[in-house]
Amino acid sequence: MNVQIGNNPLRFAGEILSNLKASDDMGLLRCVQCGMCTSVCPGAKGSNYNPRDMVEKVLEGEESIINSEEIWNCFYCYTCHSVCPVGNSPCEINQILRQIAIDEGIVNDKVGIFAGYGDSFLDIGIGAMPKRFFMELNEDIEGWLDFKSELEEIRNELGLGPITIPKKSIEEINVLLKKVGFDKRIEKMNSY
Ligand code: SF4
Ligand code: SF4
Repeated sequence: MNVQIGNNPLRFAGEILSNLKASDDMGLLRCVQCGMCTSVCPGAKGSNYNPRDMVEKVLEGEESIINSEEIWNCFYCYTCHSVCPVGNSPCEINQILRQIAIDEGIVNDKVGIFAGYGDSFLDIGIGAMPKRFFMELNEDIEGWLDFKSELEEIRNELGLGPITIPKKSIEEINVLLKKVGFDKRIEKMNSY
C-alpha cells in the first residue's frame, strides 16, 4: 500500500465518489481487492487493462492512473459492476477517470477513436460504430457492409420500421447536447 504522510490518500477516491457520474451507493471504499472484476473483464482478457488494479490505484491516491493508456481498453459492458461482491463499479470509476483525463487534455492514440462515437450522437442522435471502423468490420464479418446498406430495406420487409431517428428528434438531441457543451468536448477530442 502506498502510504502518504501528511496527505489524505483517500482524497482522490473522494473526488471519484463525489463525481456526478458515480452512483450514490457505489462501493469504492468497500473494495476488498478480490479480483472478481478482472477475472470477468473482456478488456483485461485482450490487453493489460486490469480493473482491480485500477481501483487499487484510486484507493491509494495514485492520480497518475489517468495517464494510463490501458484505462481506454474498458468496453463499458458493466460485467464487473454486476459481479462485484461489495457493490463497487470499476466501470463507473473508469468513466470518471477518462472524463478527468479528457478535462486535463491527456492525449493518447485511443482518445480520438472514442470521439467518433461522440460524433455519431451529433450526426444521427445515437451512439454508433464510427465510420472509420467500417472497412475493418467488413473484413472481420464478411458481408457486413452489404448488410448495413440493405438494413432499412430488410427492416421494411419485416415490418419493423426505420432504424434511424426522425430528423426533428436529431435536431432536438443536438440542442440538448450543445446546451451541455458535448459538441465542444467532441471537438476537443477530435483535435487530439
Ligand atoms: S471492485 Fe469489486 S470485484 Fe473488483 S476487486 Fe474490488 S471488490 Fe473485487
Ligand atoms: S465494464 Fe470495463 S472494466 Fe468492467 S468488465 Fe466491462 S470492460 Fe471490464
